[in-house]
Parts: sequence; structure tokens; C-alpha cells
Amino acid sequence: MGRVSGRSCIVTGAAQGIGRAIGEALVREGADVCFADIDGNKVAEVAEQAGGLINGSAAKVTHAWVDVTDRAAVKDMIAKTVSVFGKLDVKFNNAGVNKPMNFLDVTEENWKFIMDVNGLGCLIGMQEAARQMISQGTGGKIINTASIASRQGYDNVAPYCASKFAVVSLTQSGARDLAKHNITVNGFAPGVVATEMWDQVDKDLMEIGAADRPGQAMEEFSSDILRGRVAKPQDITGTTTYLAAPDSDYMTGQVVMIDGGMVLV
Ligand code: NAD
Repeated sequence: MGRVSGRSCIVTGAAQGIGRAIGEALVREGADVCFADIDGNKVAEVAEQAGGLINGSAAKVTHAWVDVTDRAAVKDMIAKTVSVFGKLDVKFNNAGVNKPMNFLDVTEENWKFIMDVNGLGCLIGMQEAARQMISQGTGGKIINTASIASRQGYDNVAPYCASKFAVVSLTQSGARDLAKHNITVNGFAPGVVATEMWDQVDKDLMEIGAADRPGQAMEEFSSDILRGRVAKPQDITGTTTYLAAPDSDYMTGQVVMIDGGMVLV
């Protein structure tokens, strides 16, 4: 018996990085997992490979194209998951974007792009997952990807920080509103995780003059991690599987830091 056996889960932003690792860890622990992403081809490959992790359990895997800012697409993704797995128990709102800009250069376009995916995308994902769970009458779990940038404002990424503060507010508001339906809402907050997102952020920070050489921004940003190194996506998944499992049933409205000790709150 895995820790999440028989649970039907959706993970957005699952074509790579943290989302992919979340989905793979859930499959290993017996869950049915829909890997969803705006990169439909890549997420289909990732889901197929995740099928190889099932390892004798009854777990199932599927995939869906989704743009988390598009409510109709989110509804389709949930409908597909329910048609394949029969229900929805756990929804990870993990898809996210960043595009660093110097504070004084931040444009409306930059703000809207980041707030749409990270903020509105999280809200729509919570609402549509909750509607499905309410119609089932089964309760459920909604888990949002926050960040150290949910706890502190950092220079060169102001809209990203604002969007991740929004994720914490949505987690708290959702927890209060959805408790009556036996739906819990929690989040987790990674620090610096070595993924394609950070590779791109590193390049972007050089482009805007905030770093001189590749790797410098990541080194400087993460120099005071108490655990002494940046994270791999697999450092995050013990906590994400816990948040999807019955072990965390009494917990709601919380955001767990998994940052190796960068921000102490
Ligand atoms: P990543 O860029 O490697 O992966 C993000 C995935 O989201 C990609 O597969 C991308 O195609 C997908 N995506 C982007 N826009 C989408 C949309 N509109 N609809 C659906 N899918 C979309 O990023 P990651 O590092 O794995 O980050 C995952 C989450 O973790 C994000 O919310 C990010 O903000 C958060 N986070 C990352 C770090 C880090 O250091 N990497 C730290 C804290 C929080």
C-alpha cells in the first residue's frame, strides 16, 4: 500500500521540474496521476515515462494539455481526469512562470503575464477543483506552489513575489471557504530548486545586468542556505506527497517552507 494509493490527483506544470517530480513521487506511492501542462507534447512523454514507475500497484497515469489561465481548458483537464480515474481527490496548482526585470523597468505586460499564470491560474485551479470535489461530496485536497518569494520581496522579481504572496492569500482564503466541504487547502514554499526555471532566470538576470556570468545569480542568491546547497526537485516531494496523503488531513490553510533554511518564519 502506497501513501496515496487510490487517490486521483492532477499536477499542473508537470512537464518538467518540480511538477514532474511531484507527479512521479505520487505515482510511486500508488496514486492515479494526471500530468498536465501547457507543453502538451512534452507532458505526454513525461506521463508515458511515469507509467514505468507504477511498480506493481494499481496506479494509473494520464496527461492533459492545459493553460491554467484559461478556465475552459482547466475544466476540460478536470473532466478528462474524472473520466479516466472516476473522481478527483487532490489538485496541485503548481504551474508557474517568472521573468526578471529591474524594479523600475517592470512593465504592465510583465506584471500581467506573471500575475495571470501564478495568481489567476492558481485561483481558477482551486475553484474548478473545488467544484468537482463538492459535486462528488467526497472532500479533497488542494495544494498550491508558493515560494520563498511568498515570504519576502526580492529585487528584480517584484511581480513574481507579488504573485507568490497572492498564492499564500488564496491558500488561506480557500482554506476558510472550503472547510465546510471537507476540502483542505495547503501550500509549500520551495527556495532555490535547480530546474529549467532557474536556468532561465539566471540568463535573464545576466541580460538585465544583475549578474556578470552564468551561475552567479544562483550562487549569490542561495549563499546563505542553512542546508548548504540548492534543492533538487526530489528534495521537495517528501512534503508534497505528505500534503496529498491522509497524514495531513487535519492541516489546512498552511504553507510549508521547504527551502533548506533560507527564510525562517
Ligand atoms: P519550470 O519552469 O521548470 O516548470 C514550470 C512548468 O509550468 C513548465 O513545464 C511550463 O510549461 C508550465 N507552465 C507554464 N505556464 C503554464 C500555463 N499557463 N499553464 C500550464 N502550464 C504552464 O519551473 P519549476 O522550477 O519546476 O517551478 C514549478 C513551480 O514551483 C512554479 O510555480 C514556481 O514558481 C515554483 N517555484 C520554483 C522554485 C525554483 O527555484 N525552481 C522556487 C520556488 C517556487
